This record gives sequence, structure tokens and C-alpha cells, in this order.
Amino acid sequence: MVITGGGRGIGAAIAQKFSLLGAKTTLMGRNLAALKQTASSLKNSQAVVCDVSQEASVQDAFQQAREPFGNISILINNAGVAGSNPLPKTSLEQFRKILDTNLTGTFLCARAALPNMLKASRGRIVNIASTAALRGYAYISAYAASKHGVIGLTRSLAIELASTNITVNAVCPGYTETDMSEQTIQTIIEKTGRSREEALSAITKHNPQGRLIQPEEVADVVIWLCQPGSQSITGQAIAVAGGEV
Ligand code: NDP
Repeated sequence: MVITGGGRGIGAAIAQKFSLLGAKTTLMGRNLAALKQTASSLKNSQAVVCDVSQEASVQDAFQQAREPFGNISILINNAGVAGSNPLPKTSLEQFRKILDTNLTGTFLCARAALPNMLKASRGRIVNIASTAALRGYAYISAYAASKHGVIGLTRSLAIELASTNITVNAVCPGYTETDMSEQTIQTIIEKTGRSREEALSAITKHNPQGRLIQPEEVADVVIWLCQPGSQSITGQAIAVAGGEV
């Protein structure tokens, strides 16, 4: 199986849980050292450098993924970047980087994995979207647009593949305790002068349970979607957000 962004955060939690179930995991990302560190803590895991926004890099990385472990039957599109700015201050470069990684990256990786899945007539694609795929938030238009796009891709591809044994779903976490949410907290502190506690409560207030989601909670839903018993679940966007959406 392939997990993009598998070196840290939610991707690493997904890799750890799958590894305990005996999966052979290829972890992809741009930072080889982080990928290697996570892969070395798992059984049957390899680190492969991949920038999901670059077509040639994706093609090459999926080739490398197949070399030791054979066909890819599970793809977790988890790599992502965030970034916040009022829209008038969002540069075209920032907008494109977020779209290229979160949306185009999901497309490129799904396209790279699908030939194997179609040939075997089985497979699972799980796209890690966000609650920002299901509702808007101020100052993250580019991120929300990219993640709404992931839901459109998920729903359409699921219908396109419905007559095969390949399912395509999205998991939509609320703010989750990783480097990404830490970056959001730091940005709030820098831009508003609030304390760390206030910045943290500014993001946890969105979750009716009043807390950050843990990466392992997201991983558990991903595992469930990849089990044989989840064959009828396709084209869904499942929130893991304490009741937020
Ligand atoms: P992290 O910032 O901890 O990890 C992001 C991962 O994405 C890293 O492994 C990074 O690896 C990888 N990545 C980023 N850009 C690229 C790229 N161009 N090519 C390949 N890999 C890339 O974030 P999370 O673990 O929190 O996020 C994982 C996913 O969950 C993302 O899609 C995010 O949008 C989503 N999400 C996160 C939430 C949160 O609050 N944390 C909430 C909702 C959704 P490297 O740097 O090595 O390239």
C-alpha cells in the first residue's frame, strides 16, 4: 500500500496502524530523512521520495513502490499543505501551491495507482480531506477550495468505479494534533498577539467536543474503510470532528 505524507502526523499514524495489521507500506513525501525514520520503526516499510504535485515524481515513486512490494491495492492520499491569509492577500503562488498539492496531488496519485487496481479488480482509495472540505472557514479559501475539490473528485471517481471492487472515500478530520495544527496555532499567536492557550481554544472551539482530534482516531476510520466489510461504502465524506459537521 502507499501512504503519501506518511513520514509524520496523520500519515505516520495511518502507517503505524496498517503495519500492525501486516501491511507492506510505502511512505511517500519530500523529506527522505523523516520518511526513513518512520519506515524504520515499521515492519515491511520503505521510504520513497515523492512530490505529489509533480507528475514525473509521482510516476517514478509509484514505480519504486511496486518494486519490492508488488501491486498497489490500497492508496491513502494524505499529503497536504495548509496556509491562511485573507483572500486579497493570498498570492497566486500560494493559491496554486495549495491546489497543486492537495487536489492535483490526489488526482496524480489516484491515476498512478489505478491501473494495478483495475487489473486486479480490487482496491481502496482513501483521500484525507478536512472539515474544510464540507464547510467554509475565514482566511483559508485556498485550502477549503482544494479540499472541496477532493470531495468532488472522490464522489465522481467512486461512481466511475462502482462496477469494480474499488472504493473511493474521503475522511474529513477537524483540527488534529500534528505539525499542521501547531503551525496554525503559531500563526494565530503571531498575527493576533494572543497567548498559546487562547490560540488553541480559537481552533478547538470549532469542535463541539472542545478538543483536538488525535491522528490515531483518523487512522482508525481509514482502516475501517479499507476492510472487506466496507465494500458498500464508497463516494462518502466521513467527518472525524467531534460533531462539527
Ligand atoms: P503535517 O503537516 O504533519 O504533514 C503533512 C504531510 O504531507 C507531511 O508528511 C509532508 O511530507 C506531506 N507533504 C506535503 N506536501 C507534499 C508534497 N508536495 N508531496 C508529498 N508530500 C507532501 O500534516 P497532517 O498530518 O496534519 O496532515 C495530513 C493530511 O490531513 C493533510 O492532507 C491535511 O490537509 C489533512 N488535515 C489535517 C488537519 C489538521 O488539523 N492537522 C485537519 C484536517 C485535515 P514532506 O514534508 O516530507 O513532503
